[in-house]
Amino acid sequence: MDHAQLSAQLERRLHYPHGDTLPAPGTTLQVAPGVHWLRMPLPFALNHINLWLLRDVQDGVEGWTIVDCGITDDITRALWEQIFATELQGLPVLRVVCTHMHPDHIGLAHWLCQRWSTPQRDCRLWISATDWHAARMASSGNTGFGGDAAARFFARHGLVDAEQLTQVRQRTNYYASMVPELPSQYRRLLDGMTLQIGGVAWRCIVGYGHAPEHIALYCAERGVLISGDMVLPRISTNISVIDLEPEANPLPLYLQSIEALRALPAHTLVLPSHGKPFTGLHERIDQLQTHHAERYADVLAACAQAPHSAGDLLPVLFKRVLDLHQTTFAMGEAVAHVHALVSQGRLALAQPAADDKVLRYSTV
Ligand SMILES: [Zn+2]
Repeated sequence: MDHAQLSAQLERRLHYPHGDTLPAPGTTLQVAPGVHWLRMPLPFALNHINLWLLRDVQDGVEGWTIVDCGITDDITRALWEQIFATELQGLPVLRVVCTHMHPDHIGLAHWLCQRWSTPQRDCRLWISATDWHAARMASSGNTGFGGDAAARFFARHGLVDAEQLTQVRQRTNYYASMVPELPSQYRRLLDGMTLQIGGVAWRCIVGYGHAPEHIALYCAERGVLISGDMVLPRISTNISVIDLEPEANPLPLYLQSIEALRALPAHTLVLPSHGKPFTGLHERIDQLQTHHAERYADVLAACAQAPHSAGDLLPVLFKRVLDLHQTTFAMGEAVAHVHALVSQGRLALAQPAADDKVLRYSTV
C-alpha cells in the first residue's frame, strides 16, 4: 500500500460531520452553537487555513471573538471585509485569539485589532506570552526561518543542494513578509485558564513541540476542541528543530502533549487549523503516535546500514518531491526525529571524517 492509500484508509476511521462541505471564500459555516468556521487561502502547498468566529459578549457588548487570523495579504484582508459585511449580524469583533505565532495564524492580528478597536474599547490580541515574544522577534528580524544562520544549520545537517541553500540564505524576511507588524499590546493566555466566550467556558490547553507555547481551546459544554495545529486530521503536524534552538528535542514534547488530549471525551468535535472538522480524537492520537513510531523505525533502519545526516534521511522520511518551503520543513522534521532518538540513546553521532562538518548519525 502506498502512502496516499494508507492516509486515505486512516482518514476513513475519522468522521467528518460536514462531509466534503466547505465554507465558500468570504462566508462562514456554523459547526456548533455559536461557533462558525471560515477558510482563508495560503500561498503554499498547504493551501488553506481554518479560522473560527465565536459569538461573544464582553462587558455587556455583544459581538464576536476571532480565533486565528490568516497571513497579511490583500486577498485575506478583502475576504475578512466580506465576512465583516455579511456574517457578523452587524456586531463588532471584540477580541482576537491566536493559538500560536506561525504566520498563517497571527499574520493579520495587527490589522484585525486595529480595525476593531475604538476610542471606547480595545480589540485585544490574546495569546501565550512565549508565542507573543517569539512573534515580535521573528517579525522584526531574520531569525529562525531563513538567512545565513538557517542555511548554515541546514548545511551542517546535510542539505547539499547549493541552489536550495542559496534560496534559504536569501530568504531573510520570510516571516516578516507575512507578519509585517504585531499589535503593540496583548493579553496573556496560560495553560488551564478559562475564557468566558459568549457566556460559555473555554479552557486553554497548552501544547509543545510545534510552536513555543501553543494554546488549544476546549469547551466541555459544547464538546468542541479548537485544536490549532496540534491535532490535524489528514497531515501530521510539523515538528521541527530550527536554527534558533539547534539542540531542541521537540518531538517527545509533542507526543506528550497530544497524549494529554486523550483525557478529552472520545466524541469531542475537533476543529483543526487545516483539513475539516472531525470526530475521532482518540483514534487520531493513536494514528499520530503510530506514525512517529514508524518514522523512528525507518530512521533507525537507515542509520543501522550506514551513518545518515538529516539531509540523507529526507528520502527515507518523505516519499514525495519537496519544494523549497517543504524541504525546509522536512529538514527540521528529520532533525527532530534524530534528536528524539539520540535522547533515547538509540542513535549517536558517527565519528565525522576530519574534513567533514556534516552531522551524521549511527545506531548505538
Ligand atoms: Zn503552526
